[in-house]
Amino acid sequence: MEKMQFKAESKRLLEMMINSIYSQREVFLRELISNASDAIDKIYYRALSDDSLHFNKEDYYIKVAADKETRTLTISDTGIGMTKDELENNLGIIAKSGSLAFKNENELKDGHDIIGQFGVGFYAAFMVADVVTVISRALGSDEAYKWQSEGADGYTIEPCDKSDVGTEIYLKIKENTEDEKYDEYLDEYRLKSIIKKYSDFIRYPIKMDISGK
Ligand code: ADP
Ligand code: MG
Repeated sequence: MEKMQFKAESKRLLEMMINSIYSQREVFLRELISNASDAIDKIYYRALSDDSLHFNKEDYYIKVAADKETRTLTISDTGIGMTKDELENNLGIIAKSGSLAFKNENELKDGHDIIGQFGVGFYAAFMVADVVTVISRALGSDEAYKWQSEGADGYTIEPCDKSDVGTEIYLKIKENTEDEKYDEYLDEYRLKSIIKKYSDFIRYPIKMDISGK
């Protein structure tokens, strides 16, 4: 008998993921910071085997910036970035992990720091944001692309400008509801405590920049 492959209602699957995989919303920040750290680690590992690449520790950091006026939370990194194809494959295919692939391709075994493996963490951003915009420029490319999505309905990709290699993720934080105060994800002390709770072990600096009232 022929073996059939399961198919998925990807839209429903994504909705399920966003709404029920995590018991606490605040973990979205852990997921985005771990992706940023992985992206920097990839440059670090590349540099080990590529003499033309120099890894100066000061150049690599993660930044969490909040602008209360525009309700925007930004997580940016100076990591390896994503090409157009990588944006499509890694952020457009549920449960596809570029980081797991990187570990396998580079035969990284124990002792490495790359965290990603399941290919779902990124979507946690939709627990707190109505719109997620990713601007990325890959190492070795002079093109940058903007990926944008409002969740389960799909995403768009278009060329854009970005002067340095790396990734910026913009979260348009949801409006407060009676039950949920999303404002807290723009508050410096709340953000700091979430970072302390889940991302204390990250080995690259996490800078903060909060503006607006
Ligand atoms: P995981 O981290 O488990 O692989 P995610 O859903 O968090 O899954 O991310 C999916 C993939 O998207 C990552 O494996 C990586 O290839 C890519 N990615 C996500 N965020 C970034 C980033 N900031 N810089 C570069 N690549 C990223
Ligand atoms: Mg991840």
